[in-house]
Amino acid sequence: MCRHTSLKVGGPADLFAIPEDVEDLKVLLSWLKGQNIPWLPIGRGYNLLVRDKGIRGAVISLERFNRISSVGEALIRAEAGAENLATVRFAQKRGLGGIGFISGIPGTIGGAIKMNAGAYGEGILERTEQLTLLRDGNVHDFRIEELDYGYRHLKLQDGDIVLAALFKLNERQAHHTEEEIRKDSDLRRSKHNVGYPSAGSFFKNPHGMAAWRLIDAAGMRGVRVGGAQASEVHSNFLVNTGGASTQDFLDLAGQIIKAVFTTSGVTLEEEVRIVGEI
Ligand SMILES: Cc1cc2nc3c(=O)[nH]c(=O)nc-3n(C[C@H](O)[C@H](O)[C@H](O)COP(=O)(O)OP(=O)(O)OC[C@H]3O[C@@H](n4cnc5c(N)ncnc54)[C@H](O)[C@@H]3O)c2cc1C
Repeated sequence: MCRHTSLKVGGPADLFAIPEDVEDLKVLLSWLKGQNIPWLPIGRGYNLLVRDKGIRGAVISLERFNRISSVGEALIRAEAGAENLATVRFAQKRGLGGIGFISGIPGTIGGAIKMNAGAYGEGILERTEQLTLLRDGNVHDFRIEELDYGYRHLKLQDGDIVLAALFKLNERQAHHTEEEIRKDSDLRRSKHNVGYPSAGSFFKNPHGMAAWRLIDAAGMRGVRVGGAQASEVHSNFLVNTGGASTQDFLDLAGQIIKAVFTTSGVTLEEEVRIVGEI
């Protein structure tokens, strides 16, 4: 899995599947279910930390589900494997906007939906009208109000796969979106240019606080365990400086959680999804 995650760590999965379409995916899930094999859908692995022993089960990449289409006046439907930036660009070409804040978030719509990815106080689910899920072998549409979600979190049932999302957008002139993309990209270049593989922010921001400030206050900026390091540039980015193992990241994260709790009484919670065999 080190080839499928931005942190470049993680042992192998038993199976890695890239279904072509929904029918293909249904056949695959029905077979996996029959064999009692669990599955994990992934996007581009920008928020995944896979344990060193790998994944006992199947990893399913939704990369072939990448169509984006207009549905009526101000609605855009993006399949789970569509890239965030491609979705923003698609809307821009049609004079629509409102999801520009995801333009610089690396990954796919499926990953963004599951993580309720966001920036500048906005989360993608607040702009989502409807989700199409594959649940128990059937395709279901859910209005967003029917689902439980919050900051960097969407509650799904085990085995659910996000197939597509419908976004309700506003009229927006293309040059305004261009400006939004440029500003976001400039800001990210100045703040996030950490020089090593990362998964972005490793910990969630506790309510009303910035995780990086707590990490700094605990004296953990720059601290290393093996090849993993709390970045000198952005201390909430844990980076792979070369040859890190997942255990290095887990040990470093454990030290940070302990140090932050000791100095501030706050328990940090990982934003990255930690998966795989213990
Ligand atoms: C440099 C950098 C900057 C970042 N900046 C931000 C930021 O500003 N804001 C932010 O929110 N995040 C940020 N991230 C984190 C990451 O980009 C987001 O979490 C992104 O949404 C992950 O998308 P992905 O497609 O790679 O998902 P993955 O990492 O592949 O998966 C993430 C989770 O979603 C699940 N998942 C993926 N696809 C599906 C599907 N189709 N159905 C069901 N579940 C699915 C996976 O099982 C996993 O639990 C950053 C990461 C990096 C490396």
